[in-house]
Amino acid sequence: MRSKYPRINRIRRGFAHNFRRILERFGVRRIESGAAALFREADSAALTLGLPATQALIRVQNSLAMKLKNTGMQGTALHGSCAGASPTFLCDSGLGGLARWIRAAGYDAEWKMGFDDDELIERAASENMILLTTDSFLPDRRVFKDGRNIIAWVPPTVGVPEQLSMVFAEFKLALLNSRCMYCGGRLEFTAKELVQDRIPPRTARWLDEYYVCARCGKLFWHGTHWSRIRLRLREIHENISPAD
Ligand SMILES: [Zn+2]
Repeated sequence: MRSKYPRINRIRRGFAHNFRRILERFGVRRIESGAAALFREADSAALTLGLPATQALIRVQNSLAMKLKNTGMQGTALHGSCAGASPTFLCDSGLGGLARWIRAAGYDAEWKMGFDDDELIERAASENMILLTTDSFLPDRRVFKDGRNIIAWVPPTVGVPEQLSMVFAEFKLALLNSRCMYCGGRLEFTAKELVQDRIPPRTARWLDEYYVCARCGKLFWHGTHWSRIRLRLREIHENISPAD
């Protein structure tokens, strides 16, 4: 039977996946009743704080993920190749904006239009990338069942800052030096005279530090656009990181 509220159901389905995955990492045994309690908590937060349902669910999920951090259990959260190294992400076609912001936060994230589901799964598994998807059915695939391959669902109906807050909270990402927002490559300091002909004359007059992407060669500098992005990243990060 088709639901009258397909979109809301897809959203709740996505959160149900996330709640179960995070509860499993807590070692909770009664996953289903735990997830039901989290939905009740979100419904209640939506009512008392006047939040839209999705925002309330994000708040509950992030708070749950942050508790995981406080128990010191996050080491078990990521599969072998990610432990101790920076996680890398593969974003599905709906998450190009999120990929750019993950790179700005200092993590490698791949995004390409046109990957189908099987290609996404194959690519993430072969490169040990965390798959980020807006498709609430994809986490049902068997390849994600034993926890060796990680998939996290993000709601397509919210802005990039909210999506990014979920990635920050669940994967315990500290803010690192930005990577290339276009491809995820590392930015390497370069002597100004080597790139002089690529710098807009007005910028060259007041700025001496320039960086080149080690992967795609694009030129970067810490101008006002960069400052705005870093400020926004810090705001998003602080919002999910309690001061204690
Ligand atoms: Zn690049």
